[in-house]
Amino acid sequence: MSVKVRFAPSPTGKLHVGNVRTALVNWLFAKGQGGSFVLRIDDTDLARSTPEFEQGIEDDLTWLGLTWDERDNQSKRFDRYEEAAARLKASGRLYPAYETADELDRRRKVQLSRGLPPIYDRAALELTDEQKAAYEAEGRRPHWRFKLEGKRVSWEDLARGHAEVDTASMSDPVLIREDGLFLYTLPSVVDDIDMAITHIIRGEDHVTNTGAQIEIFEALGATVPGFAHMPLLVGADGAALSKRLGSLSISDMRDQGYEPIAITSHLGKIGTSDALEVAESVQTLGASFAFSKMGRSPARYDTADLDRLNAQALHVMSYETAQPRLAAADADLGEGFWNTVRGNLNKFADVVDMAKIVKGPITPVIEDAAFAEAALRLLPDVIDENAWSAWTNTVKAETGAKGKGLFMPLRLALTGQPHGPDMAAMAPLIGRETIVRRLKGEAA
Ligand code: GLU
Repeated sequence: MSVKVRFAPSPTGKLHVGNVRTALVNWLFAKGQGGSFVLRIDDTDLARSTPEFEQGIEDDLTWLGLTWDERDNQSKRFDRYEEAAARLKASGRLYPAYETADELDRRRKVQLSRGLPPIYDRAALELTDEQKAAYEAEGRRPHWRFKLEGKRVSWEDLARGHAEVDTASMSDPVLIREDGLFLYTLPSVVDDIDMAITHIIRGEDHVTNTGAQIEIFEALGATVPGFAHMPLLVGADGAALSKRLGSLSISDMRDQGYEPIAITSHLGKIGTSDALEVAESVQTLGASFAFSKMGRSPARYDTADLDRLNAQALHVMSYETAQPRLAAADADLGEGFWNTVRGNLNKFADVVDMAKIVKGPITPVIEDAAFAEAALRLLPDVIDENAWSAWTNTVKAETGAKGKGLFMPLRLALTGQPHGPDMAAMAPLIGRETIVRRLKGEAA
């Protein structure tokens, strides 16, 4: 049986790190097993879904390297949901109910005040045909509930081990609203059956849904797929991230200059026993992925870790990979330059400042004119990769300056900044003529 999974976002907002972790884990699992990955757009809610959000989802996934083998839209499959609903109605598992939201709310309050669980009491099952007709005559439209069996539904969860949901403790879920809208629960099952999905991988906030959905798979006479429910993301402070996810959109992270491989390495490794290191590619991440490495405890999403992985991704990036982006940023000063500066980058865009140090003009910082003058006098005729150590040795011998007192004024004069790449490698890139002008305090 070859593995087939799906990522099923609703195009009602931007993808955030929580959704993308779900997409990524599905993708990694599928690729690790030689299986396929389906992108399914859950757009039954036509009022809230937009083509812009749908396009954004595709752009984000493509940018992250999470390509799909198949894609579909729920909005094109309403006939399939109607058909499934008709079958469930015929077998008595889908029944009409006429309560308004207010009536249900009042009933729940009464139950709670009596210390009872606020579960739907199935009053609608007792309605006679006359009562239903009376409601219809009043202009009420029914919503449709799935009649749960009220049993212990269990499965072997790839992430959680043995899992159980007691459907007797749940209200019969509404599958179709009074306005005819199919809520997520039924279409998802119908699609999973039609697309022959072998594993449903999603966040543990769906565990209860799984109880009901397994009953729906069975009611439709289908094989129940495998399930994996991942622990949710928490922030660095250990608090649930769910409320903050809106501000962690992938498109914002792209604008902030994060590398896709840093994001995928981070989201693919947090909450697992693997070390948090940047992967060579999303394919190599797939080869090392296993649910057995995923713990039951929540995955800690810490931006400091992401920043570290982002820098790591740049530090090992080859010139070949960087070159088109360097050219686009007008900062392609050759392989030697890239290899010298990449170790100092936190974000790729930092390279522009580094290129400016080489190309100029920069404003040198000279705090001690006499020292700069001495350094200028002692500057070797040829600035090659050995020049820096020869030069600083003679400046040290002549002026008595050493350590930071020797190197910092030279760095400040040559680059205008207190930190930066290795000066021995930078000096030949800057070139003798520019070094001379900067030592004289000229903007060059
Ligand atoms: N559209 C659903 C969601 O985003 C899909 C859940 C599922 O994977 O079944 O929560």
